[in-house]
Amino acid sequence: MWGFETEPEFQRELDWIDAFVREQVQPLDHLLGNQYDVADPEFVRLVRPLQGEVKARGLWACHLGPELGGKGYGQLKLALMNEKFGMARFGPIAFGAQAPDTGNSEILAHFGTAEQKRKYLEPLLANEVVSCFSMTEPQGGADPLGFTTSGVLDGDEWVVNGEKWFASEARTAAFIIVMVVTEPESPSPYQRASMLIVDAGTPGLEIVRDYGFYGEPEPTHAHLRFTGVRVPAANLLGGRGQAFAVAQTRLGGGRLHHAMRTIAQAQRAFEMMCERAVSRTTKGQRLADLQMVQEKIADSWVQLRQFRLLVLETAWLADQGRDWREIRLHVSAVKAEMPKVLHDIAARALQVHGSLGLSTEVPFTDWVVNSFHVGLADGPTEVHKQVVARELLKDVAPAEGVFPSYLRHEQERRARERCGLA
Ligand SMILES: Cc1cc2nc3c(=O)[nH]c(=O)nc-3n(C[C@H](O)[C@H](O)[C@H](O)COP(=O)(O)OP(=O)(O)OC[C@H]3O[C@@H](n4cnc5c(N)ncnc54)[C@H](O)[C@@H]3O)c2cc1C
Repeated sequence: MWGFETEPEFQRELDWIDAFVREQVQPLDHLLGNQYDVADPEFVRLVRPLQGEVKARGLWACHLGPELGGKGYGQLKLALMNEKFGMARFGPIAFGAQAPDTGNSEILAHFGTAEQKRKYLEPLLANEVVSCFSMTEPQGGADPLGFTTSGVLDGDEWVVNGEKWFASEARTAAFIIVMVVTEPESPSPYQRASMLIVDAGTPGLEIVRDYGFYGEPEPTHAHLRFTGVRVPAANLLGGRGQAFAVAQTRLGGGRLHHAMRTIAQAQRAFEMMCERAVSRTTKGQRLADLQMVQEKIADSWVQLRQFRLLVLETAWLADQGRDWREIRLHVSAVKAEMPKVLHDIAARALQVHGSLGLSTEVPFTDWVVNSFHVGLADGPTEVHKQVVARELLKDVAPAEGVFPSYLRHEQERRARERCGLA
């Protein structure tokens, strides 16, 4: 059965979230700095009460499945919720749904020991603390087989040495989940690394510098150096050599939520473009009456609608009990298309606004830059396109001879044979 409706009960929640984000959360984007700085007194004063309202409404940290102690909304509903959260920079954190904490809580809930859940998961879900997830290294990003940061067991401690970078929010995080090579001799390259939970402030862990990105309030993406960092053996998250499996668990849902938040940004750019088109006149006509502006609006709506349907279909597939690996074709297609959709719509909105569009009075430049961000974080677009092509081609059989199987004369011959014609 096909359907494109939201059940009225859940639609009421979405409407509440929509109004709440627009009226109460969006203003914070203009007043506060880093949205992960939970110790900032202004964060405490302005964000905590909003989080309280979300909790009272029963909409706090909805991302965990019921088997992991969550509410079990399912990916489709989470996608629709994230589309609302994405309308404000502080949207996700107001709802306890901010990356990378969502993914980190998912793997802690999934693989964590009782003690790890008590020590790390509980405060993380309560947003008493924030966390960091660190895989990327200076000499290897898109290719995780190139990682060299090592962990060697010494008694009941892991000793970690190496460098990581672009570890977002390491400076505000209470702990960092780090991918380290612990089984260098394993015959499978995908079973050489493990995940360790490293507490902030552990001796030997150093933030060399924080890299900043255009459009963000301050530099928060850390270059980390580990020099003889000693981590309790009990801080191994998942089994030895299981880092790839752990990482995969956090990426599927995260990519969909990210996609819906990206749609929210593109939707805002679209709405601004429409308002400007019907407001501004040139040579006695509204911009909206010029065909090349109309084309921008039509193309943007179609592109956004197509992409949204792909994301929702993918979320729906996940809700049918499919494992993330089974639907990696869809997840990677979403990830590969996401930067283009945001880039194209934000760039068209910028252009329709003229010079104003390029100014810091409007967010289009931020969003164009963000389109590159979403095309790199969690793996570059090219790698995801490779996955899409590989998945699509894996069951395609080659033609039997040198000629394609679908040549017209060949099809005619087969049709005649089938119908008993000479
Ligand atoms: C905003 C932001 C936040 C991030 N946060 C984190 C974080 O919290 N934790 C973390 O671990 N990492 C984080 N990253 C890092 C991110 O995961 C990496 O940047 C990404 O995996 C790519 O690695 P790289 O930058 O080393 O690119 P490289 O591996 O050097 O690749 C550079 C380029 O080469 C091309 N390329 C690479 N591989 C292929 C291929 N197989 N086929 C074709 N072309 C290819 C692509 O154009 C790619 O962009 C973040 C990145 C950004 C932008």
